[in-house]
Amino acid sequence: MSKIQLLISGGWVIDPIQKINEPRDLLITGGLIEAIGNPGEFDSIDLPDELRIDANGAIVSPGFLDMHCHLREPGFEHKETIESGTQAAAAGGFTTVCAMPNTDPAMDSVASVKFLVEKARVVGQIRVLPIAAITRGRAGLELTDMSELAEAGAVGFSDDGDPVSDGYVMRHALAYSSLLGLPIINHSEDRTIAPGGVMNYGFSSERLGLVGIPSAAEEAMVSRDIALAELTRGILHLAHVSTERSVDLVRAAKQRGVNVTAEVTPHHLVLTDDWVTGEATELRPHVISYEYDTNTKVSPPLRSGKDVQCLQQALDSRVVEVIATDHAPHATVDKLCSYDDAAFGISGLETALSMLVYLHDRSGVSFETIIRSLTEAPAKIIGREDLGSLREGTQADITIFNPNLQWKVDSKQFLSKGKNSPLDGVEVRGRVLKTIYSGNVVFSL
Ligand SMILES: [Zn+2]
Repeated sequence: MSKIQLLISGGWVIDPIQKINEPRDLLITGGLIEAIGNPGEFDSIDLPDELRIDANGAIVSPGFLDMHCHLREPGFEHKETIESGTQAAAAGGFTTVCAMPNTDPAMDSVASVKFLVEKARVVGQIRVLPIAAITRGRAGLELTDMSELAEAGAVGFSDDGDPVSDGYVMRHALAYSSLLGLPIINHSEDRTIAPGGVMNYGFSSERLGLVGIPSAAEEAMVSRDIALAELTRGILHLAHVSTERSVDLVRAAKQRGVNVTAEVTPHHLVLTDDWVTGEATELRPHVISYEYDTNTKVSPPLRSGKDVQCLQQALDSRVVEVIATDHAPHATVDKLCSYDDAAFGISGLETALSMLVYLHDRSGVSFETIIRSLTEAPAKIIGREDLGSLREGTQADITIFNPNLQWKVDSKQFLSKGKNSPLDGVEVRGRVLKTIYSGNVVFSL
């Protein structure tokens, strides 16, 4: 046995791939998981205290993998950098994040993919995997050199932030996806349906006098993309689904054998459009103001209570198999303005776990399901089945969290440069205690 790096004992281990959901101890050597043993099995090993982690009362999980996050570099370093974004990710329990290409320049070339990989290797706290653009400059007109980008390390393709509106372009992107074995990840929104929309279309938008985005804007494009994936036998992954009918469309497509998967964000699983008004909700019992809260402006928008409930059920029944943060950090000034002018996005890496603990408490979605959606499921979609488990011999990426630890969100304390969180000031439960990447502790509370 090579030199022992860490012993994690006393914790409750959940590793869906290995169907482990019980107390276990873990031994780490040389950056790899050496062994998973029964409680106390490794106690006789002589180790200095600094190599022992007491996980009593905590859940020990494979490191979380976020397949949808915006690191903003290059081009928007005032909002986030690869360094600050990966620090925030580590604090949120993530050991791998997939970075979206809506940077400036857009990540549409081999050089830009290599920049991300190289920069992340130097300054990153954790693993960063590139999602390259579908079209040049993300302009929606001309496909990128997808096979070269895949060779350079891209694990998927997306023009996220913007949809691929042209059906002919999308058709060809999906056709290539099956050749490359990598997903096309579309931001599903038909913008011609709700130009200028800023929040969900419904009672709250009418009350506030804001332009609403009806569910149909999402569902029209989900429907088109499923039809195109069926036509081309392409690999389609739907980013951040947010409506009841989107879930219905995915379920029906899966039943027909279409190669489609979907993700949902923690905020769409927990928050409704009531949050836009700043009024009291169960999670936030005090009215923060009667003005609208620009930190709730996100794309797709926070939806109705019925949608939220359907998304919870879809996650539970694995119709939607992935949880992804869509971490979208912004500078404070981007939100210090009218709701119409505010930027879309929530800084989500550091509150994801707490929102999911709330989901578990309120809807009964099990921690096993939540962890599977953050590990095994996204790893499979991006073709990295070496990640997302605690199998012996794999890289020691591990998240240790206490689901009962209470804390008050203070976005000023975020490691992310993006302080834009609707949860600022809210009392939550569930906190990451330690994040271990490749055998090294990269975050410790
Ligand atoms: Zn998006």
